[in-house]
Amino acid sequence: MQIVAKGLTYTYDAKSPFASQALRGVDLTIEEGEFFGIIGHTGSGKSTFVQHLNALIRLTGGSLTVGEFDLASKKCDLRALRSKVGMVFQYPEYQLFAETVEKDVAFGLKNFHRELTEEERAAAVREALETVGLDFEAVREQSPFELSGGQKRRVAIAGVIVTKPEVLILDEPAAGLDPLGKKELMDLLHAIHGSWCRTVVIVSHDMDEVAENCTRAAVFEGGRVVMCGAPAELFRRADQLIEMGLDVPTTAHCARILRSRGIDVESDFTCDDFAEKVLELWRAKGGAGRAQ
Ligand code: ADP
Ligand code: MG
Repeated sequence: MQIVAKGLTYTYDAKSPFASQALRGVDLTIEEGEFFGIIGHTGSGKSTFVQHLNALIRLTGGSLTVGEFDLASKKCDLRALRSKVGMVFQYPEYQLFAETVEKDVAFGLKNFHRELTEEERAAAVREALETVGLDFEAVREQSPFELSGGQKRRVAIAGVIVTKPEVLILDEPAAGLDPLGKKELMDLLHAIHGSWCRTVVIVSHDMDEVAENCTRAAVFEGGRVVMCGAPAELFRRADQLIEMGLDVPTTAHCARILRSRGIDVESDFTCDDFAEKVLELWRAKGGAGRAQ
């Protein structure tokens, strides 16, 4: 499903003296099949934007379509929309609530697919838990509150992917995880993206994560999209991003340092691509020895 936002605006507490305009005209198209990144400063409107995509926040200004769903229409079938567009909130583990892991993961399924039999439901829950790397038999009867932080997050993600949404949106899914946990999570998202989930949208603070994983990314600033493109295009403008107070990938930092020393490295911004470029330069200069 293609996602098209045009002139999207949103103000929290619009009628109060505390009104705060979070979105000021977001124009953004995310194509079906992308692994899309959303980056930007805290308060730039990222979470407000993504919560529009499955109508957790109702559209109040501009237009938004997600596949066949027109979110400006009063007739938009929100239940159908939400069964196709899954949303994993920031720190989703805080929303676990059921007495067992199995019941927690089954909750969304019961909501969206009432027609399923008990066995079908158990099979779907097992598949979701195994997809996120948990042993179904070992955790099904456990209280989600007894699990480790990383396991809780997996259970929360399982509770969203159990319905196999076509579009999966995750708001800072790797926040607070250690480097191995982050890598496992990204591997998991790619595995899902390679099978039934057509489109993944992640909000991220981690530019390396965006550079390594995303097909394209949009930079939010002050409630608007100020840049959008493939990571290599975006991070070529590292100076501009740094001026905005944003971080850039480690490879972009290295390229800037080399450039300031007179060595011009065009980086594609994954570590592998960057290493290849440096090796090319090394060989061109007649480098030998260990770099061969
Ligand atoms: P981000 O996810 O990029 O950090 P948000 O979408 O959370 O940005 O916030 C955008 C703006 O909206 C900020 O100025 C923030 O203070 C404001 N905002 C966010 N959530 C609320 C809320 N529930 N009530 C009032 N203002 C909010
Ligand atoms: Mg946010």
